Amino acid sequence: MNFISVKEATSIILNNTEIFGVETIPLTNTLSRVLKESVFADRDFPPFDRVSMDGIAISKASFDKGIRSFKIEDIQAAGKAQINLNNPDYCIEAMTGAILPLNTDAVIPYEQINIENGIAKVLIDEISYFKNIHPKGFDKKENELLISENTIIGAAEIGVLATVGKTHVKVAKQPRIAIIATGDELVNVNQTPKPFQIRKSNVYSVLALLNELNLDADLFHLNDDKAVLLKEIDQILKDFDILIFSGGVSKGKFDFLPQVLEELEVKKCFHSVKQKPGKPFWFGKKGSKTIFAFPGNPVATFLNFIKYFKPWYLKSVGLDFESNNLAILEEDFTFKSDLTYYLQVIITNKDGMLFATPIMGNGSADLVNLVEADGFLELTAEKSEFKKGSSLPYLPYR
Ligand code: AMP
Ligand code: MG
Repeated sequence: MNFISVKEATSIILNNTEIFGVETIPLTNTLSRVLKESVFADRDFPPFDRVSMDGIAISKASFDKGIRSFKIEDIQAAGKAQINLNNPDYCIEAMTGAILPLNTDAVIPYEQINIENGIAKVLIDEISYFKNIHPKGFDKKENELLISENTIIGAAEIGVLATVGKTHVKVAKQPRIAIIATGDELVNVNQTPKPFQIRKSNVYSVLALLNELNLDADLFHLNDDKAVLLKEIDQILKDFDILIFSGGVSKGKFDFLPQVLEELEVKKCFHSVKQKPGKPFWFGKKGSKTIFAFPGNPVATFLNFIKYFKPWYLKSVGLDFESNNLAILEEDFTFKSDLTYYLQVIITNKDGMLFATPIMGNGSADLVNLVEADGFLELTAEKSEFKKGSSLPYLPYR
């Protein structure tokens, strides 16, 4: 095995991103998808001088002349075409959301007037020009950029897409993903394992990690049988864009995957990274297909997904993939080895700073520890002593 560093593995992975293409889908299906078009204002925002309080619209010049009693000429309701104030010393009742009546330039809310016998008496002594009016184009001008391409569509974006009339939206296509568990010792969740068996857990944690990225996947389980692996993986390679394996890539007698993948003409980019856990990670490409084969140890699979798959996917769809999270180590930690160590930690946030306390009994196979921890501190291979108070790269999963 030719070992490579975490840094080299990261750079190979980020140089092998894929474009999954673009599709146009109905607005109501776009939540959490990645926008693949820039969205511009189709008109001014707001599109007309809009009354922003229920009250009366007047001409400020009349108010400035000293007029305080305004005869009501008419009513301007929301959703109705603009009407005129004919006599500048009169007023028009105007409702929130209505277009400002012609020849008026200030709105006095009902709270500041008394209406009797069709006359509105004003209770205030000062009014500014365009008071209680949201001027046309105040927020955005026609053709101005509202949402940039490569934004994750949330509720706020859906509102804006609706307001500019986008019934259909261009978004990144979602890759077809297969998660493949390997191992004769694995049984289904609904089965009672024999003493020498375990329930399959990795496929479900990986599926959940994908779901957190708004991705879905099909699940497979293959036995440690070379002929079966060859036949099944050949088909899976045809049907899916991304294959995520767990198990079968180490040095065991029944770890057939590296061999099988090469026989199926998947190009090996690397096998084994100087890290713990997750060292036997195998990564390869076949045309546009990308193959992540993680070792089966549940913490290794979990960590490698966060460390490698997640930035690879985010970069592939044009999202920000660099994680610059740092956390401060709460106690001295020693790890003597030439491997990068991923330490499971519990995080406490003190005044916006993250403090990381290592989980004790940090056996890498202990998937139950994942429940207690919040993420991994990355302890570089170059050092073995890590002092309390040092600021270190942090990979969160919560
Ligand atoms: P392997 O990488 O195949 O050598 O597996 C390493 C360890 O992870 C073994 O103890 C396996 O039983 C375990 N393992 C492999 N696949 C899974 C899985 N899908 N869920 C839980 N544990 C697994
Ligand atoms: Mg195995």
